[in-house]
Amino acid sequence: MNGSERRSVSIFGATGSVGSSTLDLIRLNPDHYEILALTAHSNADALAQLAIEFDAQVAVIADNSQYDRLKALLADTKISAAAGPEALVDAALLAADWTMAAIVGCAGLLPTLAALRSGKTVALANKEALVSAGALMMTQAQKAGATLLPVDSEHNAIFQSLQGGHIGQVRKITLTASGGPFRTWSKEKMATVTPEQAVAHPNWDMGAKISVDSATMMNKGLELIEAHHLFPIGLENIEILVHPQSVIHSMVEYTDRSTLAQLGSPDMRIPIASALAWPERMKTDCMPLDLAKIGQLEFEAPDEERFPAIALARNAIQEGGGVPAILNAANEIAVAAFLTGDVQFLEITEIVSRIIDSYSPAEPTDLSDIFEIDREARARTKAMIEDVKV
Ligand code: NDP
Repeated sequence: MNGSERRSVSIFGATGSVGSSTLDLIRLNPDHYEILALTAHSNADALAQLAIEFDAQVAVIADNSQYDRLKALLADTKISAAAGPEALVDAALLAADWTMAAIVGCAGLLPTLAALRSGKTVALANKEALVSAGALMMTQAQKAGATLLPVDSEHNAIFQSLQGGHIGQVRKITLTASGGPFRTWSKEKMATVTPEQAVAHPNWDMGAKISVDSATMMNKGLELIEAHHLFPIGLENIEILVHPQSVIHSMVEYTDRSTLAQLGSPDMRIPIASALAWPERMKTDCMPLDLAKIGQLEFEAPDEERFPAIALARNAIQEGGGVPAILNAANEIAVAAFLTGDVQFLEITEIVSRIIDSYSPAEPTDLSDIFEIDREARARTKAMIEDVKV
């Protein structure tokens, strides 16, 4: 990266997988970045340790019950400790030059919107926020003149591939998908999947929720919705292609039939580095791509019968209104219940589908409508899970 100015950085979800990868990159380039705010949900110890290591100005813990612990851990430092969802928003309003939105789930929506309102650069990993409130977030970003940089490896690949042209020249976007750990499993075998098997992704090392989403392929469904908001070329022009090696992270086909793609080892630090240094490039210690060693790249169409989450997400966009928010909320609750052993693997998508079919709220017009739909969908999903508990 060029330039001598230090960029101020805030990381929401600093203790998670994406947050840690971001901090790894900052460790490699300490002269270019200074940390404004770091946040976590309940892991006060890890948060305090990171805040001290990076000399953050503010450390925010979302879970109020962990405030005393955080405060005690930071007692001998100049770092301010804060707690609760409102403190997350206040931290976002500090307006860092560059904010990483890496909270998992819709809990990241308000701080991400606040960061966008500041008109600076927001690197977006928190796809659930965009799924639930995509139109609102895109409007907010545009109104504030904020720069939204996609961090999800597929969307980052599309963003990079768009450097060779512009969105008006795009004919088709291909979102690649690894297919997850159960790509070749029969439906009967998938019925027996345990949480341990579901979180063990063959290519990527990620947090538990997104790993389960990858296993059901709901992750690709959420990414389809994400792509629909970030790259508005019409849903019918965005296709999903299973590519088990996760080397080609996505592709953009232009009107002249040239296709540009971004390739790299399956390491989230690569797309994060591209967003962190953007519009420059930074050095990383990530594994170089060794195509001779990989030998073969494979591709296949997704099996939407074994992985119905993709069609659910596509229908959710087509139906519009509050349906994507319902899909996301029901999925968050169903995945959490799967991880605690309360529902079986194949029930995750079934539950999401049944909640969408049973709940038809009025078209949301503002953020409070979205939150009401999210709250109601969560309550209905929890009630349904009580009924189907194994
Ligand atoms: P993790 O579960 O590893 O980390 C989540 C982070 O968010 C942690 O810092 C956690 O704090 C915090 N958090 C959790 N719940 C809340 C809450 N209610 N309020 C405030 N903070 C909260 O997730 P990942 O890093 O895997 O994923 C983060 C986001 O990035 C997700 O939206 C995911 O879909 C997306 N993403 C992730 C990728 C990956 O490789 N991991 C790839 C592409 C996208 P604590 O540690 O205290 O629980």
